[in-house]
Amino acid sequence: MGATTDHAVVVAGGGPTGLMLAAELALAGVDAVVVERRTSQDLDGSRAGGLNARTLEVLDQRGVAERFLDAGEAMQIHTFAWVPLDISDLPTRFNFGLALWQKEIERILAEWVIGDLGVAIRRGCEVTGFEQDAAGVDVELSEGTSLRAAYLVGCDGGRSVVRKAAGIDFPGLDATASWMIAEADMDDEPETGLRPEGGGIGPVDRTTDAGGPYRIVLKEAGVGTGEPSFDDLRHTLVAAYGTDFGVRPPRWLSRFSDASRQAASYRRGRVLLAGDAAHIHPPQGGQGLNTGVQDAVNLGWKLAQVVEGVSPDDLLDTYHAERHPVGARAQQLTRAFVALTIPDGRHDAARELVAELLTMEEPRMHLAASLCGLDIRYDLGQGHPLVGRRMPDLDLATADGPTRVFATLHDARPVLLRLGGSAGSTGPDLATWADRVRVVDATFDGAWALPVVGEVAAPPAVLIRPDGHVAWAGDPGDAGLPQALCRWFGPAVAA
Ligand SMILES: Cc1cc2nc3c(=O)[nH]c(=O)nc-3n(C[C@H](O)[C@H](O)[C@H](O)COP(=O)(O)OP(=O)(O)OC[C@H]3O[C@@H](n4cnc5c(N)ncnc54)[C@H](O)[C@@H]3O)c2cc1C
Repeated sequence: MGATTDHAVVVAGGGPTGLMLAAELALAGVDAVVVERRTSQDLDGSRAGGLNARTLEVLDQRGVAERFLDAGEAMQIHTFAWVPLDISDLPTRFNFGLALWQKEIERILAEWVIGDLGVAIRRGCEVTGFEQDAAGVDVELSEGTSLRAAYLVGCDGGRSVVRKAAGIDFPGLDATASWMIAEADMDDEPETGLRPEGGGIGPVDRTTDAGGPYRIVLKEAGVGTGEPSFDDLRHTLVAAYGTDFGVRPPRWLSRFSDASRQAASYRRGRVLLAGDAAHIHPPQGGQGLNTGVQDAVNLGWKLAQVVEGVSPDDLLDTYHAERHPVGARAQQLTRAFVALTIPDGRHDAARELVAELLTMEEPRMHLAASLCGLDIRYDLGQGHPLVGRRMPDLDLATADGPTRVFATLHDARPVLLRLGGSAGSTGPDLATWADRVRVVDATFDGAWALPVVGEVAAPPAVLIRPDGHVAWAGDPGDAGLPQALCRWFGPAVAA
């Protein structure tokens, strides 16, 4: 083993999940390094097609959503089994999806995380394995050196070396179908639009219908493995359309399948998994990148508190407890989506029935909120309906002027929001948490609406975690508040 460098956290992989995690750690002041195999942030192809409402919300909680909104196109992009799902009536500022290719998402994320926040990244370098002991992890690198860290997080994609080296099982469903995906110019104008079995052809530049290059997604006969060739692409085009439209050698050519798997555990000791390293599924439904970014936002502040000694190590177990069910739900949605779009008489009938149900208010709302991540409720125990759910972005009036809830979360610190007349309350001595928890006194006028749940009574105070989820809601004088403060943000410390 070569020279050893110390970092609090090594993040293996600088894709969307690894970058978001690095941002959360940097905001918390934790010394983290990203180790990334690619020599630059560039991606060969467009990959994922957009951001959902909850991902836009978490980016807004950090004050960077505008950067993505400026680059993409706000649209009703959600479908289930190709049935369009309009989310414009969901109670969020982002009642749409953002059409933006992953290569752009990664570029903007990297500008923020590496450019603005100054996170260290070692490019052109792979994590090849690790050894952990009671005090830390030795992370082995392809350069023949190693890094010593307190924690290692595998954000290294579906074929995660970290997951394999940790010996974490990856159970799930094997592939039964595969799709070829390419970006290429074509001499003839192709037939654009969705195909009944999924996929189809459309311009890479979605803001215009004018010509190529085109993104081509085509279901293959059988299950393809390995990297497809240009000939494979031409044959698949001819099988689907009777012509290859004079397709030129593609600038990007790959394939994906309907395999779907989830790590049995998101943690083994000092090693954690997030994003595709923890769950893979086909892209139908647009769940992968969004779930990964949201994994990172759940994990980041917890890892920071544990590294800084504010919270005990078992806070990290709540990461698996909260995010594993979310990953399982993404798998379920995706599996059902793919099954319903198998083009034969029986599946057509099932899809038509689902389409019928989705014309009804409640089923549409239920599924739409799930697809865009707004229905997530972590099981944090009983209490106000807000507990465990994401805090709505209310417009607030404070002594310093108007603000909104998400603006109070920009620095990724917990917030105790006291709504109206809390000054004289007999709550806990908050000075003993003042180094960790920001107290905001504000008033709020208007309805308090939650996706799916509907309107709820506004509680007098809300304790909001850095990830935007509500840890506690009630009267500031309740005994539950100091308990929640201790549970989530460490014990009281003499002021
Ligand atoms: C065609 C297609 C369409 C998709 N559409 C959508 C969509 O609409 N919405 C959506 O949410 N998701 C979609 N996805 C899924 C999305 O692309 C992934 O879920 C997302 O990229 C996962 O991000 P990640 O950071 O977890 O993993 P990755 O993006 O796989 O990033 C992993 C990173 O780790 C690096 N790496 C790998 N191994 C190592 C190692 N050993 N050491 C160091 N670095 C390493 C890699 O170079 C890479 O940069 C789509 C995927 C495909 C293929």
